[in-house]
Amino acid sequence: MQVRQQGNCAVKGRISRPREPVCPKPGRASPNRSSSRFSLSVASAFATSLASAFLVLALPTMASAHEPGAHVHGVAELRVSIDGGELEIALESPLDNMLGFEHAPRTDEQRAAVRTMAAKLRQAQTLFTPTAGAQCALASVQLASAALPADLLGEPKPAAPDAAQDEDGHADLDATFSWRCTAPEQLKGMDVGLIQAFPGVRKLNVQVVGPKGQSATMLSPAKRMVIW
Ligand SMILES: [Zn+2]
Repeated sequence: MQVRQQGNCAVKGRISRPREPVCPKPGRASPNRSSSRFSLSVASAFATSLASAFLVLALPTMASAHEPGAHVHGVAELRVSIDGGELEIALESPLDNMLGFEHAPRTDEQRAAVRTMAAKLRQAQTLFTPTAGAQCALASVQLASAALPADLLGEPKPAAPDAAQDEDGHADLDATFSWRCTAPEQLKGMDVGLIQAFPGVRKLNVQVVGPKGQSATMLSPAKRMVIW
């Protein structure tokens, strides 16, 4: 293909059959450019909204990594349910947070550490303080971990089947604290001292199911009150 100059514009094609100049005509250049700019900005806005839609769609997937049951060292889950005068607090935590290891104890020191952990958890009235006016009293504490002997946890029965040690050697601790409250209408929340008692827990995801419906919050060393 040959190119020859016609004024300032290059014309493509053979010399014998000249075609329209490739460069835009001065009179039509401006509207064309602004129109193409408009198209670009529309496309860009569309792409942005597509990206936003993708983010919104992607968020639940990303959040699923922190759903209850996920085993992340430093993080634990607390499920609080209030049903009439019954207050139940269920803790699920990687054993590492509570004990510093996730296997059956091999030494006397490790066995003592398990007993100390169990004793602290059984003193749940020092870990959780429900609204005083609700007059809640601790009724029972159940502890289970697939990695630990039930007798060291002070349990008569072996660990529950769902408290399994996974293939990578990780294990959880499951604890259920049951309370009875004589004035449950006064129950508005509780102070949680779990992170202070077990510094291996750095983040505590709390889910509450109660008379006002469901709510969720996150406790940290700087935040220990749950209000519902
Ligand atoms: Zn682990």
